[in-house]
Amino acid sequence: MSSVSEKTVPEEEQTLDARLRALPSVSAVLNASQASNLVHRFGRHVSTEAIRATLLETRQAIKLGAAVLDAECVARQTLARLETNNCSGLRPLFNLTGTILHTNLGRAVLAEGAIEAANASMRSAVALEFDLATGKRGERDDYVRSLLCELTGAEDATVVNNNAAAVFLCLNTLALGREAIVSRGELIEIGGAFRMPDIMARAGTKMVEVGTTNRTHARDYRAALSEATGVILKVHTSNYRIQGFTAEVGAAELASIARENNLPLLNDLGSGTLIDVARFGLKQEPTVREAVSQGAGLVTFSGDKLLGGPQAGFIVGERGLIAEVNRNPMKRALRIDKIRLAAIEATLKLYRDPDRLSERLPALRAMARSQADIRAQTQRLQPVLARSLAPCYVVECCDCESQIGSGALPLDTIASAGLVMRSKNGCGGLEKLAAALRGLKRPVIGRIANGGLTLDLRCLDDEDEFVSAVTGLEPWPVELSIGQPR
Ligand SMILES: *Cc1c(COP(=O)(O)O)cnc(C)c1O
Repeated sequence: MSSVSEKTVPEEEQTLDARLRALPSVSAVLNASQASNLVHRFGRHVSTEAIRATLLETRQAIKLGAAVLDAECVARQTLARLETNNCSGLRPLFNLTGTILHTNLGRAVLAEGAIEAANASMRSAVALEFDLATGKRGERDDYVRSLLCELTGAEDATVVNNNAAAVFLCLNTLALGREAIVSRGELIEIGGAFRMPDIMARAGTKMVEVGTTNRTHARDYRAALSEATGVILKVHTSNYRIQGFTAEVGAAELASIARENNLPLLNDLGSGTLIDVARFGLKQEPTVREAVSQGAGLVTFSGDKLLGGPQAGFIVGERGLIAEVNRNPMKRALRIDKIRLAAIEATLKLYRDPDRLSERLPALRAMARSQADIRAQTQRLQPVLARSLAPCYVVECCDCESQIGSGALPLDTIASAGLVMRSKNGCGGLEKLAAALRGLKRPVIGRIANGGLTLDLRCLDDEDEFVSAVTGLEPWPVELSIGQPR
């Protein structure tokens, strides 16, 4: 067995066979002084496997003429390999895409208070389903029920995994084996597999489409009513708008048609908001309070869209209907855990003080940021980025448009500012630059359009972190080891 202190023999004098034999064994590498750090950090099993992989690669490299490595060197390379693999894909990144609630980037960033509450609930046992006053069993919904009722004016409320789950659970509760009437103009697809007709089928509901794509009238709904009707469904067309020669039946009128026929109206708001977002310069989006007061039996909305909390689906409405929802055995399969519940409670509490909401809630803070403020930030950061990317790319300040994202207010944009990078003299490609930015220890994600890679700075609140991230870029034009954190 090779000893730790083994040194390489002058290579020119060795045959390939001898050079391969000169490589240290796995146990020799494990005994190298650098290996103690390796084993301490990653454990013996993982370290041994990784050393094997490094040795295998080194053997291939030696066959192609590379130098023999000693045990210390193999241990060091193995450490680097494991550090790279150990870097979580879920590590924090800079969302500079210009889409504030980016579904692929985890939607809303949570408020500090919500993060603290979630942390505290993780560290300790909590009274999740335990009533501290009586010492008897409690309900996990109790933590958000009264807050949701206070903020929406509803009689009762419950919460599940996300809004897709909320819609599914409501349909399954109100119309299993029965019919659900819905306008053809509202058969939405949210992206991925959430298509209203599919959800209705899986909920065991027969979809009865009424009206046309652009026009649906009250008489269409009335004509479709039958003994088999279980619910009338209204869906907010979150991510598209039908314009021109259009007609839809408002929630209040639908609620009265439903009431006359002793049926519930289910109103899926999608994003929904608890406050009027017009105060942030956005177009009006229906508030949950309005939807409740228009007479819907049940209203569903998301926790991580405009509301700015963690992923969750809220169901608010009439007490009797919420009780039915809670009796559905599927509720258990869709419930949320203590961590999210703690974060939701803390987020909802912020809505009790709407005046300070845009300071405390990152999603609204980002929406409310003025273009002037963002422009000033681009002025500060332009020289930093220009230095890091010289000489292959030019960096300029630019104006751009941010979007809310997650299907909320799809046609509305907010005037913003950013940094646009263009390649100079054809010396660097934009895809290559985008890959290098994604490969940073804290990845930077922008968007490529019109021959430039734009970083919209609306969502950048940690400027120092950004500066240290981009100074970590290797000087150009070196060949980048793409995908490797540096
Ligand atoms: C986004 C949306 C959903 C799905 O909500 P998730 O929280 O993403 O599960 C359902 N309905 C409408 C109208 C939506 O906009």
